[in-house]
Amino acid sequence: MNYRKLALVAVLAALVSAFFAFDLGHYLSLQTLKAQQAAIEAFRAANPLLSVALYFVLYVITTALSFPGAALLTLAGGAVFGVLWGTLIVSFASTIGATLAFMISRFLLRDWVAQRFGKRLAAIDEGVRREGGFYLFTLRLVPAFPFFLVNLLLGLTAMKARTFFWVSQLGMLAGTVVYVNAGTQLARLESLSGILSPGLLGSFVLLGIFPLLARKLVDIVRMNKVFARWKKPARFDRNLVVIGGGSAGLVTSYIAAAVKAKVTLVEKHKLGGDCLNTGCVPSKALIRSARFLSHVTRAREFGIATASARFEFAEVMERVQSIIRTIEPHDSAERYTGLGVDVVQGSARIVSPWEVDITRADGSTQRLRTRSIVIATGARPFVPSIAGIEAVGYLTSDTLWNLSELPQRLLVLGGGPIGSELTQAFARLGAKVTQLEQAPRILLREDPEVSALVMARFRAEGINVLVSHQAKAFVIENGEKTVIAEHDGQEVRVPFDSLLVAVGRAANLTGFGLEELGIPTGRTVDTNEFLQTNYPNIYAAGDVAGPFQFTHTAAHQAWYAAVNALFDPLKKFKADYSVIPWATFIEPEVARVGLNEIEAGEKGIPYEVTTYGIDDLDRAIADSEAHGFLKVLTVPGKDTILGVTIVGEHAGDLIAEYVLAMKQGIGLNKILGTIHIYPTLAEANKYVAGNWKKAHAPQRLLAWVERFHTWRRG
Ligand SMILES: Cc1cc2nc3c(=O)[nH]c(=O)nc-3n(C[C@H](O)[C@H](O)[C@H](O)COP(=O)(O)OP(=O)(O)OC[C@H]3O[C@@H](n4cnc5c(N)ncnc54)[C@H](O)[C@@H]3O)c2cc1C
Repeated sequence: MNYRKLALVAVLAALVSAFFAFDLGHYLSLQTLKAQQAAIEAFRAANPLLSVALYFVLYVITTALSFPGAALLTLAGGAVFGVLWGTLIVSFASTIGATLAFMISRFLLRDWVAQRFGKRLAAIDEGVRREGGFYLFTLRLVPAFPFFLVNLLLGLTAMKARTFFWVSQLGMLAGTVVYVNAGTQLARLESLSGILSPGLLGSFVLLGIFPLLARKLVDIVRMNKVFARWKKPARFDRNLVVIGGGSAGLVTSYIAAAVKAKVTLVEKHKLGGDCLNTGCVPSKALIRSARFLSHVTRAREFGIATASARFEFAEVMERVQSIIRTIEPHDSAERYTGLGVDVVQGSARIVSPWEVDITRADGSTQRLRTRSIVIATGARPFVPSIAGIEAVGYLTSDTLWNLSELPQRLLVLGGGPIGSELTQAFARLGAKVTQLEQAPRILLREDPEVSALVMARFRAEGINVLVSHQAKAFVIENGEKTVIAEHDGQEVRVPFDSLLVAVGRAANLTGFGLEELGIPTGRTVDTNEFLQTNYPNIYAAGDVAGPFQFTHTAAHQAWYAAVNALFDPLKKFKADYSVIPWATFIEPEVARVGLNEIEAGEKGIPYEVTTYGIDDLDRAIADSEAHGFLKVLTVPGKDTILGVTIVGEHAGDLIAEYVLAMKQGIGLNKILGTIHIYPTLAEANKYVAGNWKKAHAPQRLLAWVERFHTWRRG
């Protein structure tokens, strides 16, 4: 630290010490103000200019040094100088004080912060350069964030002192008037009856509702800013246009039609989206056939000496398609038209915040003017740019369903849920499968023992699971497709016939107007808690909005997107992500709701763990499926459930009881007190609650009860 900085720190330290050592803070209290009101009044009457100067300097010092008491000083300003002069004096004093605090913070700390957090600060500086003025205005207007922190923190950014000054003065003006006005009423509070005077009541009502009004004002300013370059149509053809007919889009338009809105659903490919056509439905259908084959190979476990299955892969794939066809009517244009949705086959493009162009297959176009838009364009398989990947060719969950021949040696890239489900299914159908994952284990989001159990099962079924293997390149060697992976610094080569890429899904963000409108995106469309983009009438739901990529979360978000899009500003709801369940449909099935140990640890949430081994469960034993476990995380010392992981047969169904319990605030005691049918797998839900109860049995009380029974025996 240089000499000048040291000197400033010494002066500041001396002033702060004096403030606390002489207990100067007690002068900045309502009691002192009221007690001294008459004396202050008399001094002001005798020395008007001096009193203004003294008050001004006191205000500037208090705010520049971030001492507590600025609010009280503002009230005092009103009490002593009245609304007009009070506002004028406070407005300048507070802005000068704030700017000094801002400059002190910059002078002392900016270099240090820049050194330590250079990269992150650069991103913040960029944001401040673009939007800083408006952001500061919001912080000033809505006094939710402490005044002194705004001064100190913005001093660390690249904001110009000049901008800070004028935006602060403007942003604080409304609040200053409200506070100074309340101060004038304090001055008039002479008797008890004054407390109920309309003036005082009115001032305090204003004080109370000011933050709400300010927030509304900020919303209006923000809205005007974002809409400024567009011309709003005088009339609209639709209440809502929904782009994308997958899970999110279908449910959004269903809800809109149910509440009698005029809604158009635009789908460029197939209604039902990923889930029906290339995702949940075909994968679960394939998994079912594969599971049947696995039972055939396990015949002896069921007391059947021999069992064999003869099948054509193409017929299995045909069954998959026929199942899609059977479910298709649920998501069909006919059904949705019958529900009151205007379904249009075509590609949608947002051309203004209220206009969507639809291009049909025959090239014709149509422009719809709509009050609101919901973006539900989904996601697609992400393909990493690894050398040689294009040359060897690859399958994804989009193209896989066209296969009519079973790949003999299948390489699956990715150890997430989709990669794992397809790995096991193809292995059971007879492919020699290698699963390659760069992390040290598959199903990385789950706790390590879950991954361990699944990996053990996969390996027992003959799958070559290679973890901590990073694919570096694909080559064709001696006529064979080969992956070159790095493992522990060594090169590992695995030959294969077909490659399936399943390393995650990227949101569909481009080519339909987001760039032109300036709708911010990252991995997904940026939305607030109401699912609004930066245009308050444009919403996003489903995979394109994240943060989850499931059909049930897409449908869940769809409700919020539809209701908010149709009823804002009358009413809008924050999307509730408090209880999100999911399952991976492998064997052993893995299901989860709420926290696991990894997440609880990351978030620093204290927890207790209770487990129950399904190998002990009568029904699981009878079914020869005695494997897996339940793990429940609870609040220490309480039966409140923080999260549940189930590994085993029908885990995805069993977890429903815990999803309900968490959603409705039901604890383990109540689950234990509920009858579960014998013999079912669901009993495991109760037994884990029993284990929790045993661990929390009141030992002292039980010792007394034991004595009671001994006494009763005589
Ligand atoms: C193999 C696999 C298995 C899965 N298994 C499960 C599972 O078991 N359980 C589960 O919950 N989830 C599962 N998922 C995830 C699930 O499929 C998705 O989370 C869900 O489909 C997301 O729905 P969505 O409406 O957001 O997007 P999508 O279903 O992708 O729908 C988006 C639609 O928008 C259309 N579209 C895009 N741009 C435009 C445009 N400009 N104009 C018009 N239309 C457009 C697309 O054609 C598409 O039909 C699985 C996914 C895969 C790939």
